[in-house]
Amino acid sequence: MSDSAFLPSADPSTWLGVMGGGQLGRMFAQAAQAMGYKVAVLEPSADCPAGQVAERLVEAGYEDAAGLDQLAAQCAAVTTEFENVPAASLSRLAERVFVAPNAHGVSVAQDRIAEKSFFVACAAKSGVMPAPHKVIAVDADIDAIGDDLLPGILKTVRMGYDGKGQVRVRTRADVRAAFESMGQVTCLLEQMLPLAYEVSVLTARGADGASVVYPIAENVHRDGILFTTTVPGPNVSSECARKAQDAARAIVAELGYVGVLCIEFFVLTDGSLVVNEMAPRPHNSGHYTIDACVTSQFAQQVRAMARLPLGDCRQHSPAVMLNILGDVWFEGDSDTVREPAWDQVLALPGANLHLYGKSDPRRGRKMGHVTFVAPTLAQARQQLQAACAILGIEL
Ligand code: ATP
Ligand code: MG
Repeated sequence: MSDSAFLPSADPSTWLGVMGGGQLGRMFAQAAQAMGYKVAVLEPSADCPAGQVAERLVEAGYEDAAGLDQLAAQCAAVTTEFENVPAASLSRLAERVFVAPNAHGVSVAQDRIAEKSFFVACAAKSGVMPAPHKVIAVDADIDAIGDDLLPGILKTVRMGYDGKGQVRVRTRADVRAAFESMGQVTCLLEQMLPLAYEVSVLTARGADGASVVYPIAENVHRDGILFTTTVPGPNVSSECARKAQDAARAIVAELGYVGVLCIEFFVLTDGSLVVNEMAPRPHNSGHYTIDACVTSQFAQQVRAMARLPLGDCRQHSPAVMLNILGDVWFEGDSDTVREPAWDQVLALPGANLHLYGKSDPRRGRKMGHVTFVAPTLAQARQQLQAACAILGIEL
């Protein structure tokens, strides 16, 4: 395989592939299409957000050899939109096409033990450590828990997202009960840290080793799900931003990663920075980049996987992103479903609505997001408040 760029071409078309058919795949496809590529999505369910917009849907399981081979045969390069894509599938694709990110980067981010070990190993370069932690694989590990790790959070090692697969624990007995309730799958116990606020740093690295780092984003979660992202973060000091961005640069280089990577950090009440986890793909906290940055995180992913020069990640407007969950389709606590008043939301200056084409609103399901951009952050936050009032979301 030569390492030249995969330029967009109309005839024959240049195709880019994506593993996964969710909203991240949809926004990736839209960015790729805007640049002149055709997009093929591999996803087992037919009516998926990315499949609705892609030129081709390979309807197959993520481990389906025939499906993977079809994707590889069609595409110049393949990426992933979700982190639990089997690493073996990415390796299979990589035998035939350029795959970014590769199986190594994705497999480190898929496994909290590998991820924490990696963060510890590169702490000398990144300048940040993860939370103190211990692997809980068998009952005896619970007896050996040091007092410093309690109270803590027990997290499954694999497949956790949106706060799922996590239990808060105060005592060893709590850990035992939680470990039982999770079916004794291998877990990681993390010390409960005094968080002041949470931030994330989106970074992208090209095949040539060049990297870019987006402005630091401040995130508020509700019930374990991202609620808002505000950039610039109202609490973030310039020193904290610089530390997090330097850490992100070191982490992405150390991983030898190609593509968009998002790293989540905690800022503790004493001001110190702790690295939490990373997502080997565009991230919910980076959706604001579509409307507020020169190059969106999705366009950046296209550039990285097509081995094109990375784009400018400068933010041109302060922004607040509000996640839209299925809850806003429901009238109060009732089961009555009706369309939210998007006309009123869109009447707010600087409001950009993104809906993901999901026809079945469910409480807690990510259906879309709205990004408010404005000349000042105060104005963007005012629009957020107004939108929440319209949508019946408590702020
Ligand atoms: P996602 O993939 O949606 O980001 P997740 O389910 O993989 O989330 P984490 O990001 O590790 O899990 O944790 C979810 C939230 O729980 C964090 O955003 C933070 O608010 C809280 N949390 C996690 N670990 C700790 C900790 N060690 N101390 C205090 N709070 C924590
Ligand atoms: Mg997280």
